[in-house]
Amino acid sequence: MDTILVVNAGSSSVKFQIFAIEGDGALRRQLKGQVDGIGSRPRLRATGADGDTLADRAYPIESIADVAAALTVAGAWLRDERRITPLAVGHRVVHGGPDHDRPVPVDHGLVARLERYTALAPLHQPYNLAPIKSLLANLPALPQVACFDTAFHRGHKDVADQYAIPHQLYDEGVRRYGFHGLSYEYIARTLPKVAPEIAAGRIIVAHLGSGASMCALQGGRSVESTMGFTALDGLPMGTRPGQIDAGVVLYLLTTKGMRPDAVQDFLYRECGLKGLSGISNDMRELLTSSDPRAAFAVDYFVYRAGLHAGMLAAALQGIDAFVFTAGIGENSSAIRERIAEQLGWLGVALDRAENAKHSLKISQTGSRIPVYVVPTDEERMIAEHTLSVLWASRFNAKREKAS
Ligand code: ADP
Repeated sequence: MDTILVVNAGSSSVKFQIFAIEGDGALRRQLKGQVDGIGSRPRLRATGADGDTLADRAYPIESIADVAAALTVAGAWLRDERRITPLAVGHRVVHGGPDHDRPVPVDHGLVARLERYTALAPLHQPYNLAPIKSLLANLPALPQVACFDTAFHRGHKDVADQYAIPHQLYDEGVRRYGFHGLSYEYIARTLPKVAPEIAAGRIIVAHLGSGASMCALQGGRSVESTMGFTALDGLPMGTRPGQIDAGVVLYLLTTKGMRPDAVQDFLYRECGLKGLSGISNDMRELLTSSDPRAAFAVDYFVYRAGLHAGMLAAALQGIDAFVFTAGIGENSSAIRERIAEQLGWLGVALDRAENAKHSLKISQTGSRIPVYVVPTDEERMIAEHTLSVLWASRFNAKREKAS
């Protein structure tokens, strides 16, 4: 059976999933895996559709020294042991820059253009591009598709897309891009099926994972995001501070004399829940800790979520529904309950029993704003995009041949 390989590559791990293409074009998840500990303690792990273990093995450090090597090992395992040779590969690429409002087929020219955005996402973009470059070099005939986390937000109005800085910088690419777009696009596509009564309305979607943001949806399109130029802005996250006065960064650079790369590392890895609590970046640990610093970090997360929801409600000029998704949003009834309390002034009233069960609809019948929990699936979104781009390019190739 034909399959699509979805690749999500980071600095120390490569996550991958295989989707089988059914006769009617539907996609069935066949397996998921990851190679982590790249450059330290490499390990390949994979599970089947039912969660059964298919592989769990360690590798010597020198055999998987970088992201490209990790994908090579995963590819060899898929080919030799699972007899899987994918029809195409879909990649998550965090930054598509100002030009890309949809997924695109990969070629050398695209990679060169996307490398320009490395400065805008230094901790993600190079690792996203590494497996693309490696496949282009080693398997040039294998179709690849780049799917961008920024693409879904590209239709924002200028007032949402700009900072109050001279236009020249905007033209250079200093814009409010917004991220988690593949997750929001998946939610926007899923809502008409699971909650048709609200799908066309004004909705705030809260993607609360180790990275966290909110998106204002109107008629299924993104009109505003809490994230901006980079994935540092907006809500506090596991290790990132979220919204912070640029003056704090200046203070770190000047008064504290920190080097720019140290400031970057600090902002991406040492702040957020981890920095505030001094305990952990993991919400589960904070919720079970009796340390007052953990409680404060949770209070801060909830308070800021409420503030940003207020901002998005203003962008939408009112809201018709609120949706929780991602690790914390899908699994933590405690955080949902506390954020819902913050939204009481908007007319949100949670149904505690439904919330505890992680039901689709977790608000009371009389709640002015209905609240939903919708699991996200960015990998499926990438697989669907990859298949569509593949079909479109085959169709175009046939048409060109015929004319
Ligand atoms: P990412 O994909 O950005 O790495 P996820 O969406 O998987 O993140 O979310 C991971 C986060 O979800 C973890 O940091 C953890 O704090 C949180 N999480 C997962 N399950 C729960 C739970 N039951 N209660 C609270 N937090 C949870």
